[in-house]
Amino acid sequence: MSGYNPLQRRGVKAVKGRKACRKCKYIVDSKVNECPVCGSKDFTTRWSGFIIVLDEATRLKDMLPLEKEGMYAVKIM
Ligand SMILES: [Zn+2]
Repeated sequence: MSGYNPLQRRGVKAVKGRKACRKCKYIVDSKVNECPVCGSKDFTTRWSGFIIVLDEATRLKDMLPLEKEGMYAVKIM
């Protein structure tokens, strides 16, 4: 056993190889160069936790700066 991947350990395969926008925390595929939400090109692969927004009208929107459906990182490192 070598290396420690917290995502793999939690069985979260869907987020493997993805990165998060530093500005709005939107999670995109690693091949994406520009954030579809805020247009930022500043991404990080070092993030943890994520929430999935299925409906733009969700009440979460009142608490978090979510502007688009999709996955958002909870914490950017
Ligand atoms: Zn963004």
